[in-house]
Formats: sequence, structure tokens, C-alpha cells
Amino acid sequence: MTGYLPQPDRDSAPWWERLAERRFAVQECCSCGALRFPPRAFCAACRTEEWRWREVAPEGTVESWIVSRQPFVPGRRDPYLVVMVRLAAVPGCLVYGNWRAPRPPVPWEPVTGEYVEVAAGVTLLNWAPAGDGSGPGTGAAAGTAP
Ligand SMILES: [Zn+2]
Repeated sequence: MTGYLPQPDRDSAPWWERLAERRFAVQECCSCGALRFPPRAFCAACRTEEWRWREVAPEGTVESWIVSRQPFVPGRRDPYLVVMVRLAAVPGCLVYGNWRAPRPPVPWEPVTGEYVEVAAGVTLLNWAPAGDGSGPGTGAAAGTAP
């Protein structure tokens, strides 16, 4: 692969390791049970530092997206879509990823995560339409880019 790879830090490294095993998880506070993403050292709700992983389905809805027309990623075919997905299992969490469909997303479209290994031991979570890919019934808007 040509391009930039994730640069895991202290808090996110275990998450990237799990993702390489095709397991998607968010953090769960051991004190108050709050779920959070992206990984952080402590709970924003109660400030407790103890946490555990909670595996959740990589499913959600498209909250927004951008069309990148700038060559930020060497070797990447432009333009490409990056979507912001609100997790179904954790509505307070937003996850970003590449869009994997031959058409633009539709607002609030149900999506499913797809694990894509981009280098040895490095996996990304991309997003594609859930189900048959027909979207939430707003076919007229499906061909409209933001
Ligand atoms: Zn907490």
C-alpha cells in the first residue's frame, strides 16, 4: 500500500491490535459503565481510569461525509469519500472511515463496517451500505454528492 498508515498511540494501540483481529470494540468504564470512542485514558463522565473493552457490532448510520479532492494520501485515487458513522450500539460515538460503495452515501443510511487489511498487521474499518445496499428508501438522493 502506498499512503499513510495509522499511528497508534498509548491509548489507541490496543484498539488497533483488536481491529487487526477483526474485532470492533469501544471502551466501557468499570465504574459508571459509560461507553466511549475513540480510546481515552479515563472516563469523561466520572474520571475513572479503569476500563474494559466492550465488543460491539460495526454497524451504524451515516451522519455526514466529505469528498476529498485533495491528494492528502499519496497513491490514493481522488476524489474519495470519508464518512462519519454514528454507531448503532453506542449512539454517542462517531467513527470515521472510507466509504466502500459505487455510489455516494445517503444521509442516515444504515451501514456496516468492513475490515480491510492495508498493510501487514494494519487493518482499517471502512463502511458500506447495510443489507442490499439500496439505502433507506431515498433513491433519488443516492446519486447526489454533497
Ligand atoms: Zn465512568
